[in-house]
Amino acid sequence: MQGIDIHPLTGNPTAAWREISQTQKVFKLNVKPPTKSVDSDKVRFVCMSDTHSLTHNIKFDIPDGDVFIHAGDFTKCGQQEEVQEFNRWLGELPHKYKVVIAGNHELSFDPTFIHIFKKHSEHTSRHTGTILDDEIPTLGMEKDALNEAVRVENVKQYLTNCIYLEDSTVNIYGITIYGTPWQPEFCKWAFNVPRGEKCLSKWNLIPENVDILLTHTPPVGHGDLVCSGIRAGCVELLNTVQQRIKPKYHVFGHIHEGYGITSDGKIIYINASTCDINYIPNNQPVVFDVPLKAGV
Ligand code: 5GP
Ligand code: MN
Ligand code: MN
Ligand code: MN
Repeated sequence: MQGIDIHPLTGNPTAAWREISQTQKVFKLNVKPPTKSVDSDKVRFVCMSDTHSLTHNIKFDIPDGDVFIHAGDFTKCGQQEEVQEFNRWLGELPHKYKVVIAGNHELSFDPTFIHIFKKHSEHTSRHTGTILDDEIPTLGMEKDALNEAVRVENVKQYLTNCIYLEDSTVNIYGITIYGTPWQPEFCKWAFNVPRGEKCLSKWNLIPENVDILLTHTPPVGHGDLVCSGIRAGCVELLNTVQQRIKPKYHVFGHIHEGYGITSDGKIIYINASTCDINYIPNNQPVVFDVPLKAGV
């Protein structure tokens, strides 16, 4: 496997991108929703992300297609009821396949999410620990909701209406899709890993033959511009995607204000965040058609 080097500015993605963008371009693509049904020799993908338990507020129709993709943050904090409601909503969608990853808001999905208890007792399990007031992550979530979420056992059992990917692959119509929930650390949420070596170790798990890469975080430079003007994407993810994986599509969410489609001339990057910066589900699903491989 071709090794990816840690960028010297990995901890400052804004500065790293200033340097990286000297030698590559970003094309903004304006892809309109399809007006006709998919050709018989193509597979239609319909992408959403960051719906945050607000699907009941969605005002637009969700286009039909063969594969529905959700790039994480389907709940506010991963409570059992939220997961069950999301699963019920998925069940009503017409798509033949539904592929889902978790995001940082799905606290109950991250088996390593124990840091908040460690301070009190190294031996307290995540299911019996209690979150204290000064440890509540952002978004002003209620303490009771967070405590309930982190105690849910075996939460994946409630996702019966989709293929749930977590550092894993699925092959649909001969198209290989890999999904992973990890993102650079921010405000102590789930699936947080420090920038640099730790993030890269997650991206090093991605196999090379992937056609569609599904992550919760954007790579640096594409759909990662935060409203404050800084970039929040992962530098090592961009390098992994461009130098090693070279997928046709990279689908993600997480930075709500980065919604949209871009390209570096080879790979198409889709920030499919349905919710905007105010957590209002305003952004339309992103649709693309992939030609079937010969013989499939
Ligand atoms: P979420 O909490 O749903 O994961 O992210 C919501 C918003 O938080 C994003 O749209 C973005 O404005 C902000 N955010 C998330 N991750 C980061 C990060 O790593 N850095 C910065 N500066 N903002 C972030
Ligand atoms: Mn989100
Ligand atoms: Mn490849
Ligand atoms: Mn997120």
